Amino acid sequence: VAFAFGLDVGGTKILGVGVDASGSVLAEAKRASLNSREAILHGLEDVALELDTELAGREDEFLGIGIGVPGLVDVAGVMHEAPNLPAAEELDVRSAMSSRLEGRIRDGKALRLVIDNDGTCAVAGEVAFGAGHGLADVLMVALGTGIGGGIVSSGRIVRGGHGFAGEIGHMVVQVDGPRCVCGRFGCWEQFVSGSGHRRLAREAAAAGRASMVLALAGGELDRIESAHVFTAARAGDLEAWGIVDTVAKYLAIGIANLVEVLDPLVVLIGGGAANDAELFLPATQEYFALTRRGSSECAAEIRLAQLGPRAGAVGAAAMALGLIE
Ligand SMILES: [Zn+2]
Repeated sequence: VAFAFGLDVGGTKILGVGVDASGSVLAEAKRASLNSREAILHGLEDVALELDTELAGREDEFLGIGIGVPGLVDVAGVMHEAPNLPAAEELDVRSAMSSRLEGRIRDGKALRLVIDNDGTCAVAGEVAFGAGHGLADVLMVALGTGIGGGIVSSGRIVRGGHGFAGEIGHMVVQVDGPRCVCGRFGCWEQFVSGSGHRRLAREAAAAGRASMVLALAGGELDRIESAHVFTAARAGDLEAWGIVDTVAKYLAIGIANLVEVLDPLVVLIGGGAANDAELFLPATQEYFALTRRGSSECAAEIRLAQLGPRAGAVGAAAMALGLIE
């Protein structure tokens, strides 16, 4: 069975996997990801070489390396905006990685590189091997530090005119809202990502409406993280549930708008915050149902993604395998 490598550059680590065309993960390698160009490129190089060593004895056809990066990446493989990893801005990932890896992988065979946005990679992975398997119309909402997104429509990844489609986290949901890392105001990810939860929680605590959340953060406002909200909610704290409800409502608003435009069969919720989905997803489903018009049979189904933290890396490999484009 043919195989490929998939590498995913996150804010804190670079994860690499060797995956075959049936979706089996054959090998895994990890490096820390620091906010410096050299560290990112060196980490990618190391991970690829480690996977290559680990799978050196494998005789099946090798189809290349897919790399998922957190930001706007154009069709040439150059990164433009990367608000959550500023050092990578204007980085030509394709040229840098081909010069570092050419001749060093699979005994020097010609190397095919596929570079794409990490949210796009995640939806590719879920459609190839996960919760979107076999579906031609899928929207992925990955809730991490920000919101990553990926859209598959009629079986193909939606890329837009410049390759930048799917930046769903920066849809404006409140015109006079809080400033976003992208420089605009009121973006969706300021309400619904990890940093959005944190912002809402700090705001509630500052207004005296999140005493247990604040206590869990040692009484210090700027140490409040989204995990404190979920811990307090699990303990039954009503103020924390108020924050969770706000998150659920904004999540539903964004999904409802995207569903109107794209008409996906399923909306997959992934990313780190999906681990706490049992807290906010039921309310999200209810708010989403309120926004629906017409027959409920036409509504997209919201479900959890299946590949977890490996989705981006596995999806990058799926793209290198040519399973989706
Ligand atoms: Zn933004």
